[in-house]
Amino acid sequence: MNRRAIVKGALGGILGLTLPPFARSAFSQSSPAVVPVSEGFVMLTGAGGNILVQTASTGQLLVDSGAAGFTDAILKRLHGLPGGGHVTTLFNTHWHREQVGGNLAFGRSEATIIAHEKTRARLSTDYYLQDEDRYEKALPAAARPTVSFFTGDQTLAGDKRIEYGHLLEAHTDGDIYVFFRDANVLAVGGAISPLKDPELDWFGGGWLGGRVDAQEKLLKLSNAETRIVPSYGPVVGRAELQAEFDMTRVLFDRMLELVKKGMSAQDMLDAGLMKDLSRTFRDPYRFAYDAHKGYWAHHNSLAPNLL
Ligand SMILES: [Zn+2]
Repeated sequence: MNRRAIVKGALGGILGLTLPPFARSAFSQSSPAVVPVSEGFVMLTGAGGNILVQTASTGQLLVDSGAAGFTDAILKRLHGLPGGGHVTTLFNTHWHREQVGGNLAFGRSEATIIAHEKTRARLSTDYYLQDEDRYEKALPAAARPTVSFFTGDQTLAGDKRIEYGHLLEAHTDGDIYVFFRDANVLAVGGAISPLKDPELDWFGGGWLGGRVDAQEKLLKLSNAETRIVPSYGPVVGRAELQAEFDMTRVLFDRMLELVKKGMSAQDMLDAGLMKDLSRTFRDPYRFAYDAHKGYWAHHNSLAPNLL
């Protein structure tokens, strides 16, 4: 056995032992896995971010298009579903590359691409990635959203209502939800994170206050039967959303007090920022650092006695 085989075997062992079943199935597939969501809806996983697909004989509607390297595999999967890969409409929940990588293929085949105006703007110009110290190139014109909005709007798929709206600064500055009201399926992008640590792209406009408000808005939209589809992780219900909201709210309140004392992210962790939460974070410092940065960008939105 050569070194590569040993490393591969060891990795397989680690993945098999430690990852939850959802992630194991995503790793073991060379092409995206198809996960049932609800009557007429499936989710493709393992292709960058999750892709929600509304299937119908008249055509398919997608929420997000996965990472660019998976486009061929995604197209193959879509061809095997009702609607045969004819995508009429694509929503982008935000502008991260794992959500928009397939845009070019669908744009070229003349799908309507709907996103928040901030997402359209971000994708239409080069932008700086602070984490990686480099510029991400603008997407080609054919890959950019063709319809954009600021607060929200609605449309119909056949006679079924689709409502969509802004989730202000929940994860980036261009987050939206897409709510298939009649089917009670709610796509929420990066505004919740049931599996991975919540990610706040502070340099891209996300912050904890926005996340609290966004999750509260999603709670109002949903009921006990709603199927909620995040960018990463499994489909969840309202109970999981409520649990994540409760945790987000605790973190917001605690950090608000600690930031007023002038603490660093590490000071906050030492002072018990993450103590006794309903879940364990894989990288508490990363979360605290990003959340803290987000507060500094929003001093004018904090308590009046802060400054
Ligand atoms: Zn994202």
